[in-house]
Amino acid sequence: MKEPTLYVVATPIGNLADMVPRAVEVLQGVDVIAAEDTRHSSRLLSHFAIETSLVAYHDHTDLRQVMALVQRLQSGESIALISDAGTPLVSDPGYRLVREARQANIRVVPVPGACAMIAALSASGLPSDRFSFEGFLPPKTGQRCNRLQPLINDERTLIFYEAPHRIEASLADMASVFGDDREAVIAREITKTFETIKGGNLSELQAFVAADPNQRKGEMVVMVRGAEKAEQQLDASVERMMNILMKELSLKQSSNLVAEITGVKKKVLYQWGLDNKE
Ligand code: SAM
Repeated sequence: MKEPTLYVVATPIGNLADMVPRAVEVLQGVDVIAAEDTRHSSRLLSHFAIETSLVAYHDHTDLRQVMALVQRLQSGESIALISDAGTPLVSDPGYRLVREARQANIRVVPVPGACAMIAALSASGLPSDRFSFEGFLPPKTGQRCNRLQPLINDERTLIFYEAPHRIEASLADMASVFGDDREAVIAREITKTFETIKGGNLSELQAFVAADPNQRKGEMVVMVRGAEKAEQQLDASVERMMNILMKELSLKQSSNLVAEITGVKKKVLYQWGLDNKE
């Protein structure tokens, strides 16, 4: 008997041709598919002639439903978890099921595929070496600004999911918190007919969305460039000390000595040394 497995299966975010062959194979082979919305998913399944039965799964349904699925896995069945679109658990249900299954020592296997934030980032032209996925922002301005505030100095690219009826208000709050000049990109309707990927600063994007009602329709990802790296400012006397010592000693030794003499943090001095080495 094959080991019972919970498969976490990504599905397309708008273009059925993005369904990966392994996803079809897994969905055909499992005993049951746990889906966020069984009616929505039955259209996907019928397109690929998948006849496996469906059960509804939401993270907010009570734990008994989660445990019922875990028990099915423990009794030897395999289950595939899907959401309405994209990768389950990414702003979608699945966390509680995966968590409980893993705690019960059930094998959990990802079947990767579409994910809106990764697709958006890959085409944004924004730095992608470090990024922070922030999910959906709160619906009200006050709470939204409170969520954005701690991100002001974050140097990573910030990625948000946003609903079309809130895009204007969200861009306005982002501009007021991060500044009008902060670079951003909106990726809308990815993989669909009206796919639009528009970059600019936050005030330009506000004007773009305000001028065209079509830009307030469909599904969208908003990405904001991270904060510029803060330049370390040192006193002229501290810089002079560093310059003299760095001629004779290693950067580490110079930073340690100057830190001891001046009280400036070693890390700051070391970074300054790296930035200003001749
Ligand atoms: N699990 C999904 C994923 O892997 O991306 C995300 C589900 S979340 C409930 C839905 C949000 O994802 C939308 O409001 C939008 O922000 C984003 N999204 C989903 N499909 C998209 C698409 N085709 N184009 C742009 N954004 C999309």
